[in-house]
Amino acid sequence: MPAEEGVRILALEQVVLDSPAFAAATPSLTSDDALVRFLTTLAGASRRLRLSSLGQSQQGRDLPLIYLTREGLDDPLAIARLDRPVIWLIGQQHGNEPAGGEAMLALAAALSSGELASLLDRLSIVIVPRGNPDGAADDRRVLASGVDLNRDHLLLSQPETRALHQVMRLLPPDVVIDHHEFSVAGRWAEKFGALHAVDVMILEATHPSVPRSLTEIAGRLYRRAASASACKATSAAWPLIISWPGPCSKRRRPKGPVCAPPSRLPAARSPPIAARWSFHTSLRAGRSRCR
Ligand SMILES: [Zn+2]
Repeated sequence: MPAEEGVRILALEQVVLDSPAFAAATPSLTSDDALVRFLTTLAGASRRLRLSSLGQSQQGRDLPLIYLTREGLDDPLAIARLDRPVIWLIGQQHGNEPAGGEAMLALAAALSSGELASLLDRLSIVIVPRGNPDGAADDRRVLASGVDLNRDHLLLSQPETRALHQVMRLLPPDVVIDHHEFSVAGRWAEKFGALHAVDVMILEATHPSVPRSLTEIAGRLYRRAASASACKATSAAWPLIISWPGPCSKRRRPKGPVCAPPSRLPAARSPPIAARWSFHTSLRAGRSRCR
């Protein structure tokens, strides 16, 4: 199979984000109410999408959960019995990182009745669009208790983490994709004296607790395919670097992830991306890993 088969990265100009945040003339972040209204509308328009809930946050906010299957199932055990690969997509575990949450809404729209709906012939998809609604409401990284949700998946000390894992045990994932944001300056400026150059970082699981065979398979299939597609897209319009551990260390300035991209500003639809580009264009032209 060619490395890039099955992996497609769209140039930024081709991406239309269908989420409440981009429905208004002036884009703004999606509120909890708007999020539920949007998902309820999607569920009404497509039998593939079923809206459910993990439960409630510590401050009593709903934790929406979306099931996407060709059959329109909302029973995790029944979905597991379909025996298709199960993909879990998680957004906004860190409340002050809204991009992942917004992306999950746009993706839910594309999967339920849009251009990606045919993927449900082969996959079952579960989406948690906003894992930390209390943090989102307060623009804080952590949960209402002050605990970092993303550091609690072994301890399971928080209601939000326990609620997530309860459903995950019923419908075990084959793949989990967890979406975060990262700073452009901040720690990058402290460590390396430079701004972060890329708009997207993609990394397979390399934690020592992940079986080595799985990490190797991910490196062989996923990383190679993603990198090839990214390089293809780069040559068109969208500079993108796949980063992975190896040449990067905390003490040495890495050559890939910290550099400045070409100075042409693409027609970015996302204000954060546009802002990042304007940061970058003030720097010198950078390098690319694509050869
Ligand atoms: Zn994060």
